[in-house]
Amino acid sequence: MSGHDVLATIDLGGTRTKFGLVRDGELLAAAAVAANAQGSLEAHLYKIVEQLRVMCARFGTTLEECRGLGLLSTGLVNNRAMRVLTTNGKYDDAINFDFPGWARARTGLELRMENDARGALIGEWRFGAGRGANNIVMVTIGTGIGTAVISEGRPLTGPHFSGGNLGGHIIINSGGRRCTCGAVGCLESEASGWVLPLLVKEHASHGESSLNGMEAIGFTELVAHAADGDTCAADVWAHCLRIWGEALVSFIHCFDPERIIVGGGVMNNPHPVLHDLRKSVANLAWTAEGQVEIVQAQHPDEAGLLGASALFYAPTIKPGLIHP
Ligand SMILES: [Zn+2]
Repeated sequence: MSGHDVLATIDLGGTRTKFGLVRDGELLAAAAVAANAQGSLEAHLYKIVEQLRVMCARFGTTLEECRGLGLLSTGLVNNRAMRVLTTNGKYDDAINFDFPGWARARTGLELRMENDARGALIGEWRFGAGRGANNIVMVTIGTGIGTAVISEGRPLTGPHFSGGNLGGHIIINSGGRRCTCGAVGCLESEASGWVLPLLVKEHASHGESSLNGMEAIGFTELVAHAADGDTCAADVWAHCLRIWGEALVSFIHCFDPERIIVGGGVMNNPHPVLHDLRKSVANLAWTAEGQVEIVQAQHPDEAGLLGASALFYAPTIKPGLIHP
């Protein structure tokens, strides 16, 4: 197989790094390794590139023959100079790391990069739940809350590269809980995966709760215990759903999207999360002309790699035109 139309892709997440080969929106091969985000980025990337070489060989091509290397990173990313600007404690050597120079030296490939949430939205926009829309907000609810925005046919970037990306850090509770970002009362510090154990512990009936004493409390445990009638779990879950619904209303009021894509670990449970979110939006959003569609991410695991490949495609969309 010729590699000339194949993109090598890497998605540097906070806990896992995914990588793979993509051709025309089709993931030919993919794998993931633990992120090791406290270690050196350069050492981590060295191992990923070796594995990409093995992957290419399986398809009868070489990494050097690929069309380019698309890379997503957590933190704010300057997608013009191809630099990571902030890492929030992950891969401290990523800041000022010369990604294009590294890619040329290690692989001979041109590199393009983007923030991971924006990259995942680009993947859904080109190849998944965002197809046909030119104004999209994507909200990923997992350990934290990530957001990204397509506005009038373009990924919103902004002069400081944070455009649309900090939706998890809109302040929803004045004087509320301290967030990892340094602010207080952020959406993410009031209702997200990392704050669940604290929300449970602070609940008035925590002492009698079936969650009391549990080491790890994620959405799966919370929803299961709520379904079994545990008051603490049910209240915390209802609190999260209410806050997320209200946050979507705020995003609608900020960005006027035609569609909101919801993804992340919270969708992997039997509770119909979208139903609750749609109800909040129907009750609270100021949408004078038409409702906003609220849909589930189509490629929860692959959107980042697909989006990383799409960084090499010429934009087919111009503001004001409808996506073909
Ligand atoms: Zn925050």
